[in-house]
Parts: sequence; C-alpha cells; structure tokens
Amino acid sequence: MRSLRFLGIGCVVGVMILAASFDGQERPITIHVGTLLDGKGGMQRNTAVVVQGSKILKLDPSAANPTYELGTLTMLPGMIDVHVHINGHFGKDGRADNREETAAQQAYYTAENAYATLMAGFTTVQSVGAQTDVDLREAIARGTIPGPRILTSIQQINENSGGPDKLRQIVRGLKAEHADVVKIFASKSIREGGGQTMTDDQLVAVCGEAKTQGIRTMVHAHAAEAIKAAVRAGCGQIEHGVFVDEEALKIMADRGAYFDPNIGLVLQNYLRNKPKFLGIGNYTEEGFAYMQKAIGLNVAMFKKALATPGLQMPMGTDAVAGAHGRNADEIIARVEGGQKPMDAIISATSLAAKSLNMGSTIGSIAPGMEADIIAIEGDPIADISALTRVTFVMKGGRVYRNTR
Ligand SMILES: [Zn+2]
Repeated sequence: MRSLRFLGIGCVVGVMILAASFDGQERPITIHVGTLLDGKGGMQRNTAVVVQGSKILKLDPSAANPTYELGTLTMLPGMIDVHVHINGHFGKDGRADNREETAAQQAYYTAENAYATLMAGFTTVQSVGAQTDVDLREAIARGTIPGPRILTSIQQINENSGGPDKLRQIVRGLKAEHADVVKIFASKSIREGGGQTMTDDQLVAVCGEAKTQGIRTMVHAHAAEAIKAAVRAGCGQIEHGVFVDEEALKIMADRGAYFDPNIGLVLQNYLRNKPKFLGIGNYTEEGFAYMQKAIGLNVAMFKKALATPGLQMPMGTDAVAGAHGRNADEIIARVEGGQKPMDAIISATSLAAKSLNMGSTIGSIAPGMEADIIAIEGDPIADISALTRVTFVMKGGRVYRNTR
C-alpha cells in the first residue's frame, strides 16, 4: 500500500514535470518583501512577488514558503539610467584615453563596467556613442555576460557630420543597424562653454528623419538656444542643459520633450578623477574650471526645472570612466536638489522606461512586466542614499545578486 502510494505520487510528479516541459513554464519563484515600491508611486507592505520565467506573474500577499525571504528590505523595479557611456574606463596606465589597448582589453573593461552597473541595481542602461555597445548589447542579451539590458546609439552625430541630406542618410543607416536611439550634439561641451553648434536645418534633418524612421532622438545641449532649436526641430530628449532658461524649459514641457539634466555624477566624477582625465582633448585646466562652475549652476538650474509644470525628467547620469556603478548618486543629487524622493525614484524607473518607449515592459512591478527587481537595505523615502545599498538584483527573472 505504502509503495503503491509512493508510486502514485511518483506518477503525479512525473506528469507535472512533463506538463512543465510541454508548456515551457518554469516553476514560479516567490519573493517576499517588507516594503514594495512599484515604480509608479505606489507602496505596499508585507507582500510577495511571484515570478514565472522572465516575467512577473502576480503580487500575492498570502504566498507561503517564499523562494527568497527579503522581509527586512525594500523592493523596487530594477533602476534605469538613460544616459551612460558603458565603455568608458581607466586603462592599465590609470588614464581615460585608453591608448594602445587591444580590442579585447577594451571589451573586458567594458564588461566590468556592465557588471558594476548591474550589481548597483541598474538593470537597463542607454549607452550613447560607441560602436562596441552593439556587441555588448548582444552578448548580454545572450544571457552569459552579466550586465544591464543595453540600448545604444552606436555613434554620435554633430555639426561636422554633414548637410541635411547626408544627415538623413546617416539616420536611415542607424535604423538599419538597429540603433535604439540617435545621439546628437547640438552644442559644444561644457568644457568649451556649451554654445550651439548644429544649425536649425541640421537638427530638423536629423530629428525629422528619425521620426519618420520611428527611432528616438537624444540631444546633448547646454545653451538655451540650442535646446529650443532642438525641441522645435522635433527632437525627443535633451541632455545636460546647464544654461537652460525658463522659455526653453517651458518649450520642452509643452512639446513633451524629455529633459535629463545630469546633475549628480558626471561632473563630480571628472573632478574626483581629475589627474586621470587632465591633458586629454578638452580636459584642460580651463575645461575643469568650466566643469567646477557648472556643478553650482546645475543646482539652480535643477530647481527651475522642478518648478516647470509638466516637465518630464527621466534619470540619466552620463556615466563615464570611474562612474559606473555609482549611478544612484544622480538620484541622491536630485533629492538634495529638492525633488521628492518618490518622484526621483519614479524618474529612474517607470518614467525612464517611458522615455525609452519601454513603459509596458520595464520600470514597474506589476503582472506581465519583465521581472527586473532589486532590493535595498533601508527606506529610500526617508533616506534616498538607501539606493546605494543594493543587496538583491534580479533581471528578466534571473537572480544576479543576493548578498545580505
Ligand atoms: Zn554623454
């Protein structure tokens, strides 16, 4: 009797395994958590997220025997940084110019940056400017290199890239190469004063063609005039904006252009690592003086931006060599600059996802979303620096970190 019953259970288990392999479903993973921030402003206490395969199946407060017990932690969606340079690194000589490195050396440094970024709780980043981003994007998507989901512009377009016809051709080429976004330089670097560079005609050609091709655009711009010209040309997102004025802020808000001000990481990182950059290109003493000044200007600029009704500000850092893995510094700076902690978290989750046209797949914790889930020690609403204390990282249903 006993052996028969045992046999019976064996059959049931066998059938279940068969059923599992037939419909391709893996066993659900349950994560119990003390506090859940859903990325859209919602908060729940003492609940569990049920993950099946790569997606969130449901929230189930009554789930018993969780696979992961994170009862003392705060869970939130994997964070998103809409502006990084994932390949930027300090090489063997400790410098940022990476001269005489082999392609393989550069690739491994880039993989290290991707790993540091993922471990810091960022499960998606948009990397704007390097051809090598494409291979990294594919390698991570294959599931064997640990890193955030990568979106890339492949290259950058500036005032020297050509006339309107040539620019339209470049945009069509980027679309054919599966670029996720077009990156445009409409103004000089802050190290050279930040004045407008591309003409209005050039901006119309790039952003107009990108719209026709169904590809997003992101514009580096400091001068208020450059920002206005880019938004009037139909460009979708503005980066930096140190010299933005009220009119430019209002134009962005009115036309639904996103504004990503990069106030908390990139300039601080350049100054922190000055000897590693000094002497490369426009990283001169004068350039560093501009950057030092811009940190102060950014504080006032961000306050004006916050006070602009309807302006949408997804979170991006412009992370370069030395900054990867410290992306949350930007969110901390936003809160120090006056943004409400919940709004700052939304800017790095659901709003960032929306700006990438990925709002229905990532950036929030809800049934049907990709299972990009992190957990942190502490309450980020009370102390935003809790975002730097990441102890659990899941991306697409796979756990990459669990280090309590
Ligand atoms: Zn950048």
